[in-house]
Amino acid sequence: MGSIQAIRGTRDILPDEVSTWQFVEATAREILNRAAFREIRTPIFEQTDLFARGMGEATDVVSKEMYTFLDRGERSLTLRPEGTAGAVRSYIEHGLQAQGGPQRLWYVGPMFRYERPQAGRQRQFHQLGLELLGSGDERADVEAIAVATDILQALGLKDLKFDLNSIGDGTDRQAFRSALVDYLTPYKTDLDPDSQDRLNRNPLRILDSKDQNTQRILDGAPSILDHLSPASKARFDRVQQLLADLGIACKVNPRLVRGLDYYTHTVFEIQSDDLGAQATVCAGGRYDGLVAELGGPETPAVGWAMGLERLILLLQKVQAAPIVKTDFYLVSRGEKAEAQALRIAQQLRQAGFKAELDLSGSAFGKQFKRADRSGAAACLILGDAEAEKRTVQLKWLTTGDQSEIQQADIAQYCDDWRRLMAQGTM
Ligand code: ATP
Ligand code: MG
Repeated sequence: MGSIQAIRGTRDILPDEVSTWQFVEATAREILNRAAFREIRTPIFEQTDLFARGMGEATDVVSKEMYTFLDRGERSLTLRPEGTAGAVRSYIEHGLQAQGGPQRLWYVGPMFRYERPQAGRQRQFHQLGLELLGSGDERADVEAIAVATDILQALGLKDLKFDLNSIGDGTDRQAFRSALVDYLTPYKTDLDPDSQDRLNRNPLRILDSKDQNTQRILDGAPSILDHLSPASKARFDRVQQLLADLGIACKVNPRLVRGLDYYTHTVFEIQSDDLGAQATVCAGGRYDGLVAELGGPETPAVGWAMGLERLILLLQKVQAAPIVKTDFYLVSRGEKAEAQALRIAQQLRQAGFKAELDLSGSAFGKQFKRADRSGAAACLILGDAEAEKRTVQLKWLTTGDQSEIQQADIAQYCDDWRRLMAQGTM
């Protein structure tokens, strides 16, 4: 019988890699905290209707990428393909707007989309995202963006490209949409098949077609920026001004649109050239229509999501994963010694040290080799002789210094050891 493997498009994140994930999450958490964003955790599956309404039936995600199934009670459920719809459902369901002032929320977790797996594209992947609900102020857009750029900077990522656009409000977009359809219709048969399909369903999405011929046709297409109302244009100008004030460099890209229907005004994407075709690490924008669309009060909002797999791919290029070392490695042999070593490991852990216990029962030589590999600062050694005397051999692996100490004195040594290890002198 063959062994069972992980499902195509999913990946195990093995312990060697987890330290990089924890570094990314801890860095992001700290920066989100400083900007007063609070974490929200919502379920991984929701009613299918939430995503159909929240993202729009015409989007790629809803029309072809969702993991939708009937549960045993014949309800149509969907594994969340993104985090915004769930966060907004929760915001409405729990009346978070009643807490007064804008709500600053963030989340992290797995998302599910049925896509063709490749580097930087999986069927189960992870997003870290932020939602700032309840403010239509331009400063909210810029604050949200600044948190994203701060996180990327704190991770040490450089040479990222930041594209910005405004897709106006619903009225602006309707005018643009029909101008775009009018322009593209005569070229219909020259467009790539996906774009032909989108011409009626979701024509704005044609703007980010990867097809070269379609892109050439688009060179002569009308620009959304020429269809913004004076108010929408003033809003966009202010966002750009505030970003410039913060020293956040961006490029206005009039072809940048988001695939999700609920976006209004600001849209943005942060990309890296080091990721091949899957270049976008962070994408977001304003979605003033969504809360009302999902049955809540009219609520302006802005947010973004980062793809963690892509961030990690980039990080692996700029820095080696931090090595997590242990403080003490405990080597023991013989029934009595082994029991004492177990007790000492526990004592050290309770005193705040990281202690790794060798469970092999193998020859001392083999255990010493593993102690060296563990990167421990010190090795504690117990054999039959030590067990009888209730002592332990303490060997500093960096210097090779060794001494025999009483087990009863370990508690008294802890402060010294902590100091030595913090100084890195041992
Ligand atoms: P793409 O054009 O790459 O498909 P998208 O527009 O579908 O992206 P969003 O829905 O905006 O992506 O999601 C935000 C981020 O989540 C993306 O920029 C990307 O970093 C990440 N992401 C989206 N889909 C996947 C996936 N299948 N695998 C890994 N990361 C993904
Ligand atoms: Mg996609």
